[in-house]
Amino acid sequence: MTALELQNVERVYRQGEAELVVLRNANLTVRPGEMVALVAPSGTGKSTLLHCAGLLEKPDGGEVLVGGMPTRTLSDKDRTRLRRTELGFVYQFHHLLPELTAVENVMMPQIIAGLDRATARARASEILGFIGLGPRLDHQPGELSGGEQQRVAIARAVVNAPRLLLADEPTGNLDPATSDHVFTMLMSIVKQSRLAGLVATHNLDLARRMDRRVTIRDGKIEEMD
Ligand code: ADP
Ligand code: MG
Repeated sequence: MTALELQNVERVYRQGEAELVVLRNANLTVRPGEMVALVAPSGTGKSTLLHCAGLLEKPDGGEVLVGGMPTRTLSDKDRTRLRRTELGFVYQFHHLLPELTAVENVMMPQIIAGLDRATARARASEILGFIGLGPRLDHQPGELSGGEQQRVAIARAVVNAPRLLLADEPTGNLDPATSDHVFTMLMSIVKQSRLAGLVATHNLDLARRMDRRVTIRDGKIEEMD
């Protein structure tokens, strides 16, 4: 069983006559419990790759399998359902809802999934406690530091126990010490829950702490080291 498979994925942006090939014959396998770093210069297609893996963009060719399930011919409704149940996302900016508290932000995806408020609150509090935010449950994002906000975003991404966590430069907006701390939390939560992770980062120190490193070259995914 694999968490994620990309098979000959192609993504081409067309603007008038011009064609920009971002991905072509891109192949990648991520297994359960594995953390893979995606390290490549700006503009090479990291976000495009994560959007395709996250079923947010449809590739122009090839197949994306999530948990072994092919997704190319799924309806929009089934893609959305798969995205909600199997995938978690973390972005460079936290995108927390500013009027909700930390615990309410982490309750939100669970309530959308149909859990009752008491269960959702208990699980949100447990995860936030696990990543050191027990004393910050009732703070709004504006009352939290950048690192704390990003940890809440990570808790929100994993609270429904997805199969795969996709993170797009999750510490790109943080200073080095905070970045290190947030990344350590991310690693421990991924390892503890046997999630798989695909993490785009410019930070080579963080990349080295993951299980594997890949890059994008001429539209293809290549192993590094
Ligand atoms: P990265 O995340 O590695 O910085 P992106 O995946 O965001 O790279 O972008 C890869 C390339 O595709 C860039 O040259 C970018 O300008 C281009 N691109 C991204 N999204 C679009 C789009 N919606 N339309 C046209 N070009 C795009
Ligand atoms: Mg990007």
